[in-house]
Amino acid sequence: MSGSLVLFGPPGAGKGTQAGLIVDLTGKPQVSTGDMLRAAVKASTAMGMEAKEYMDAGLLVPDSVIIGLIEERLTEADASAGVLFDGFPRTIRQAESLEAIANVVAVISIEVPDSAIVERIVGRRMDPETGGIYHVNFNPAPPEIVSRLIQRPDDNEETVLARLAAYHQQTAPLAAWYGERDLLVSIDGDHSIDEVAAAVETVVRGLA
Ligand code: AMP
Repeated sequence: MSGSLVLFGPPGAGKGTQAGLIVDLTGKPQVSTGDMLRAAVKASTAMGMEAKEYMDAGLLVPDSVIIGLIEERLTEADASAGVLFDGFPRTIRQAESLEAIANVVAVISIEVPDSAIVERIVGRRMDPETGGIYHVNFNPAPPEIVSRLIQRPDDNEETVLARLAAYHQQTAPLAAWYGERDLLVSIDGDHSIDEVAAAVETVVRGLA
């Protein structure tokens, strides 16, 4: 399949968890703006330091910063046949900018109700060595790596509520925007990881 895919959904929907499956199925690289921003924070770049203020508050990083990151990433050789965007676009302005530089062929929306989000995010843990994503109850890590897992600083209850508010105000309207362009495919994400993966696989295979 040529062109790019977008993984869309609220924080905690399972985008990062399901991205690996789509990468395996399509061979497209995952482009996660959240991961790119966290790498910039870790490297203490000027952009990372600016972005951190927004991330810690649960707010969206300004469009100009994000669009610059994506423009640069898409110039890399592995992006030439399309990528899997994860956590991008998050505003109509980002989607409009993307339209000018990439051919988005489908937007896979993982739908999860707000009532399930806080528990998912507060229990989420990451493996800093592999980028693996776990959950203390829903997806426990192997015992031998549990001691090295970290919790994202923005994965606390207070920040989650701000992130959900940002999602509803700025990001959720994009579902209709992509729907109007006949690109939106919705999946019920309020199920186990394996059940959602099966639905994602069916959708991705149908795009081929
Ligand atoms: P994520 O890992 O996708 O949950 O993103 C973590 C945080 O990074 C978000 O809460 C935002 O502060 C910021 N962020 C990630 N992607 C974007 C984006 N496309 N637009 C604006 N802010 C973003």
